Formats: sequence, structure tokens, C-alpha cells
Amino acid sequence: YEMLVKKNKVMNLTRITDREDFYVKHILDSLLIAKVCDLRDKYILDVGTGAGFPGIPVKIFFPDTRLLLLDSVNKKLLFIDEVIDGLGFDNISTIHGRAEEFGQDKKYREKFDLVVSRAVADMSVLSELCIPFVNIGGSFIAYKAIDSDAEISSAGKAIKLLSGSDAVVYDLEIPGTDIPRRLVKIAKSSASPNKYPRKPGIPAKNPM
Ligand code: SAH
Repeated sequence: YEMLVKKNKVMNLTRITDREDFYVKHILDSLLIAKVCDLRDKYILDVGTGAGFPGIPVKIFFPDTRLLLLDSVNKKLLFIDEVIDGLGFDNISTIHGRAEEFGQDKKYREKFDLVVSRAVADMSVLSELCIPFVNIGGSFIAYKAIDSDAEISSAGKAIKLLSGSDAVVYDLEIPGTDIPRRLVKIAKSSASPNKYPRKPGIPAKNPM
């Protein structure tokens, strides 16, 4: 919290800087995935991590996970690298670039037990960016708003084309508050077609 508030004065990382608000809307919100899956020993990718959410809180509370944090804006990752050094974490690193590119890279494609993403894109675009990274038997969890029914159902076809299972929706509240949060979980039992993800920018310009 202190590192983020300090860095936030020189670059735009978050609008949430009040301590209580930060604990609730960044830390506890990020940790909600622990209610819907077992995080122990998992290799996790956070797509569009920004200032490190949900990845960094997950690493703090589940230190035996392996984490890779991906973003297309390098200065945010440089901040995260400072946090990783400052907190002395192992088995966590950052990669700079577009999900569309890394999703086609053998080193990363279909390599993760769990892919998570919060506040990055619409469900159909996000599915194209994230599902190719999930290994067979793994899953993708998207942080969505509670009123995302239409968004989720219109992503159904894309999810199926990417070899994702039917979406399972978990409507939760951040503990100790009445702030709602929906997590959407998609499992994967066969490989995604090679043509996905398409080239950078195409998923958003022309959603599946
Ligand atoms: N997950 C964080 C940040 C959300 S802002 C949080 O919830 O607080 C969205 C982030 O996604 C930005 O940092 C942006 O750079 C990144 N992003 C958007 N599209 C991307 C893409 N195609 N590949 C990699 N990063 C992307």
C-alpha cells in the first residue's frame, strides 16, 4: 500500500488511495478467487495486471503459487518489479507486451494452471486474450461486474470456439462489505485453435 501510494504521486496507477478503500477494493477483491478455486502450488498468469491486481495480493497471501504478471505498459511493470524486490518474493516475474503476442508464443501458450484478469476487456475479447494461455485441465477466471449477464452470454460462442467450457458464474460480496463482485470461471479440456489469439488489436476491433 505504501509503495503504491508513493509511486502514484509520480505516475497514474490507481484512483483508490484511501487505506481502507485500498484494502477492500484492491486486496480483498483480488483475493476473492481463493473462494472459487484452489490456489495451492498453481502456476498463475495475470493478464493486464496494471499496478499488480489481482496478482500481487494473491502472491502475498499464497506464497507457494508461481506468478507471471503481464501488461503492455512497461512503467507499471517497473513499479511491480520494485514491489517484488521490496517484499522479497520468489517465483514471480513480469513480462512486458501484448497478450495477443505472448498467447502465440510456445513458452507461454497453454502453460498456466490458472489465468486471471480484472478490468481489462469485455468478456469475449478477454476470452480470446486469456483462454489460449490456459493448460489442458486448467481454468480462466475473469473478474466481472454483477450486471454482466448480457456480456457473458454474448461471449458464449467465442468461449466455445476457444475450447473453453460453459462459464460458471459466482456472485460474491467482498467480505465485511456489501460490495458485489462476480467471478466467471471457464475450464479447458482441449487445446485452443492455433489461429487464436489473432494479431494485436484485432480481438478488440473485431470481437469473435
Ligand atoms: N488488472 C488491473 C489493471 C486494470 S487496467 C486492475 O484490476 O487494477 C487494464 C490493464 O490492462 C492496463 O494496465 C493495460 O495496459 C492492460 N492491457 C490491456 N490490454 C492488454 C493487452 N492486449 N495485452 C496486455 N495488457 C493489456
